[in-house]
Amino acid sequence: MPDPQNLHEWHEYVGVAHIHSTDSDGSKSIPEIIQIGQKLGLDFLMFADHMTLRSLHLGLEGWHKKTFVLIGYEIHDQNNKNHFLAFDVNEVLPAELTPKEYVKRINQMGGLGIIAHPDETRNLPQFPAYPWTAWDAEGFDGIEIWNQMSEWMEGINRLNQLKMFLSPRRFLTSPTTKTLKIWDELNKQRKVCGISGVDVHAYPYKFGPFKFVIFPYKVQFQSLRVHLVLKQALSSDDRMAKRQMIDSIRKCRLFISNYRRGDAKGFRFYAESKNQLVGMGDSISQAKKVIFFVYAPLRCRISLLCDGNVVREEKGTHLQYLADQPGNYRVEAYRGKKGWIFSNHIRVLPPSHS
Ligand SMILES: [Zn+2]
Ligand SMILES: [Zn+2]
Repeated sequence: MPDPQNLHEWHEYVGVAHIHSTDSDGSKSIPEIIQIGQKLGLDFLMFADHMTLRSLHLGLEGWHKKTFVLIGYEIHDQNNKNHFLAFDVNEVLPAELTPKEYVKRINQMGGLGIIAHPDETRNLPQFPAYPWTAWDAEGFDGIEIWNQMSEWMEGINRLNQLKMFLSPRRFLTSPTTKTLKIWDELNKQRKVCGISGVDVHAYPYKFGPFKFVIFPYKVQFQSLRVHLVLKQALSSDDRMAKRQMIDSIRKCRLFISNYRRGDAKGFRFYAESKNQLVGMGDSISQAKKVIFFVYAPLRCRISLLCDGNVVREEKGTHLQYLADQPGNYRVEAYRGKKGWIFSNHIRVLPPSHS
């Protein structure tokens, strides 16, 4: 497998997205949470409290030592459904808008919009589900293809709840087939980023005589992670670094992983032809022979998919594949039966496109 020199110049930043703080219904303040992220060596944290940009206006966005903090908010409709994350915006929209309206408005304001926990279902009456239903909305940039809180809540029932509270990360398996399918379909029309959200609130919960903090931040920051893979290092300037981060998410230059299954840092997925080397979020023309390369830092089952269908599967740390058809290619990696890594797409364009 070739190891082109320029691959070494790609820069990987690992962080966590969709965090709640005491600005809304989380249990720690943003400065306290930043400290936790710093101790774990996270490169960035993306906060999205409900309907507030308080900490953005307090000036907390930007570098905090080696951790970049991005502050957006989570908006929902009047039935508290259709949750939507908005970053790179300075004002909170009025609460009475419909999902279609707020998706459009965030887009018009130049913000980055992400559909949160699209297909939630839940089994305990005290925790209602908040799925996305407004699929006619236009102008969003991404979808949470894997939401820690949703999957955990879906798995929970009366019998297992004690175990689930004591060991929340053990129960994460994979993104749902339904969400992955929607995401692949959308990508046939245009680029839509697939991202993960921990959706951590860390609220205290009473179970009989016991009292737990569900999902301490420290535990949650060691589950679903976002890995940005950039061709240029993040700037030390706050505004520049923010532009780079927003831009790379919009352009799908990332993969997500469940840290619980192993540290995915160093995973690479790229395609090469005679005169091009491209990564996630990029397009490559099939006019010249296109070969895909996947490298995983730990042994796993690697699947390469084209438009949602598996075209090659390999056990180990490498996969190589000669692309024989145009389409949107992406990678899933599993350890045991559990999902570990999910990449964004690389597009192979028909020869006539070049
Ligand atoms: Zn939500
Ligand atoms: Zn949330």
